[in-house]
Amino acid sequence: MQQLTPNVYAETEIRGCNPSIVFTSEGSVFIDTAQWITPLLEMRAFARERGPIRYLINTESHIDHIFGNHWFAGESIVIGHENLKKTFWKIPPAFNQTTYDYSVDVIRNQDPEGLKYMPEEKDYIINMPQVTFSERMTLKLGDHTFELYYAPGHSDANIIIYVPEEKVAFVGDTIFKDCQIWLHSAMPDELFKTLDFLNTLDVKYIVPGHGPVCGKEAIYENKQLLYDWFSAVSDGIAKGWSKEECVKKISFADRCPVDIGQADAMDYIQEHNVMVAYDYVMNKLGK
Ligand SMILES: [Zn+2]
Repeated sequence: MQQLTPNVYAETEIRGCNPSIVFTSEGSVFIDTAQWITPLLEMRAFARERGPIRYLINTESHIDHIFGNHWFAGESIVIGHENLKKTFWKIPPAFNQTTYDYSVDVIRNQDPEGLKYMPEEKDYIINMPQVTFSERMTLKLGDHTFELYYAPGHSDANIIIYVPEEKVAFVGDTIFKDCQIWLHSAMPDELFKTLDFLNTLDVKYIVPGHGPVCGKEAIYENKQLLYDWFSAVSDGIAKGWSKEECVKKISFADRCPVDIGQADAMDYIQEHNVMVAYDYVMNKLGK
């Protein structure tokens, strides 16, 4: 785990999202949960040593952000956007598995030590947020403020959590740093607006959904990458390529790796990023 400030920790070197902890004078707040059980339980133990884990906030519904919610059931109040319930504990149909079986496979292959902690399917608690909001919510805990903002774009359930006392923003998959961006659930116009909003916050650290902790430079990098996707697809359309041809011929796979443990999703990412970019550009062209 990386310590960003005296009260903020983030784990960026495991599969999936970057689960984080903020310690306050009245207990801690977890942000997102890991897809590997062993490091998640280590983080939970680390937090418990300093007092109760009062809240768990999910930045989005994708499985790599919410799988570990089970291990906070009955202990911490879960908070998230009201749209989370539409897509919670659902994985893309292309994965061809139930969410439970998919999760067990991840543990078996990548965190075998953690397999003994995986409950039977009937005992796994799909621990959805008990507290939801639509546009904005402020949570005060001890000496800290958690400003929660609806931040649609990567999906329709994303939020940004800003802790002004620490000058840290936890942004989920609004930002990918030095790894492949997933656009499969994206709403590009909203994503650009959310990135502009993120730029208005007074932050020293941005904890992205994937990749190392970064600063505001990542906002521009992500915008540039989005424009590159749309530009590549727009060039394809200008050549008369169909959506299928664009999917076949356009790939950014050589630009950067997929985040830790998710390399087998490279083809899925390329294919779906092209499809989303194609629909977006065609719509903008009025075609
Ligand atoms: Zn995501």
